[in-house]
Amino acid sequence: MSQSVDNIKPSYPLFRDNDYKESLDNKRTMFEECHPEEKINEVFQWTTTPEYQLLNFERKALTINPAKACQPLGAVLCALGFEKTLPYVHGSQGCVAYFRTYFNRHFKEPIACVSDSMTENAAVFGGQKNMFDGLKNAIALYKPEMIAVSTTCMAEVIGDDLNAFIGNSRKEGYIDENFPVPFAHTPSFVGSHTTGWDSMLDGILRYFTLNDMDNKEVGSNGKINIVPGFETYLGNYRVIRRMLEAMDVDYTLLSDPSEVLDTPADGEYRMYEGGTTMDEVRDAPNAIDTLLLQPWQSVKTRKFIKGTWNQPANAINIPM
Ligand code: SF4
Repeated sequence: MSQSVDNIKPSYPLFRDNDYKESLDNKRTMFEECHPEEKINEVFQWTTTPEYQLLNFERKALTINPAKACQPLGAVLCALGFEKTLPYVHGSQGCVAYFRTYFNRHFKEPIACVSDSMTENAAVFGGQKNMFDGLKNAIALYKPEMIAVSTTCMAEVIGDDLNAFIGNSRKEGYIDENFPVPFAHTPSFVGSHTTGWDSMLDGILRYFTLNDMDNKEVGSNGKINIVPGFETYLGNYRVIRRMLEAMDVDYTLLSDPSEVLDTPADGEYRMYEGGTTMDEVRDAPNAIDTLLLQPWQSVKTRKFIKGTWNQPANAINIPM
């Protein structure tokens, strides 16, 4: 090899060495099932023919680079839409760095979201200890009034049980008995960001209303609940609000991150801003109906609203 301890080459000089070129060639022919040059040329020529053009235009459905992200990313966006809520991801911190970066880039805002940073030992012994410390530290440091927990693939693959872990965190005194910690299992090897958004909303509605339905009556608060779904264009929330107000409709948006993701650039950092309040969620079963703006992606939420709140939960025709 042209490399030695006394002669370490950086990338380009190394790539130009014959033994590097040879090793790359061997890798291609031996392991990458690469086609010979003639075959590649033959196919390229075929793609320039009318026969290929005809086949190409005959395609009925095609998605190139579908916009599909993973479930906890959707869960984080959903959680950001609730007042003083800290999204918390049980799993590996690299995943959470990706969610934050993704949202930073899109919204041009800092994104408050924590992880309990499971590593190798948690993958072997389970992540309960991480959750004990994570919940306690997150409350002490960031002072949220609700923590919404979702999971990454790692926690899901080893089968961590959020309900049990959160219950044990209360029992062991890491969090107060009544501190709200709704949760959603969000394995990314099924579904997508829209599924995760739906599961998180289902988890939040379940947490605040499932065992508190006795004094609820459909229509008694005269409001309409709106479920926006995974919506990243903040102007859309404002348009929805403006339209409802113009029609004099009293409403509750179930998840509204339009304030926290669009805070003024005045030098003051606002970790929590706006959002749907816990009281609004508790009152939501009293609404006349809940309208789902992304009905095909809000399957769990819709099932819960129909089954537990006894509202029609009508799907909206798209586009409205
Ligand atoms: S490991 Fe799973 S949760 Fe993490 S970024 Fe990848 S798909 Fe998402």
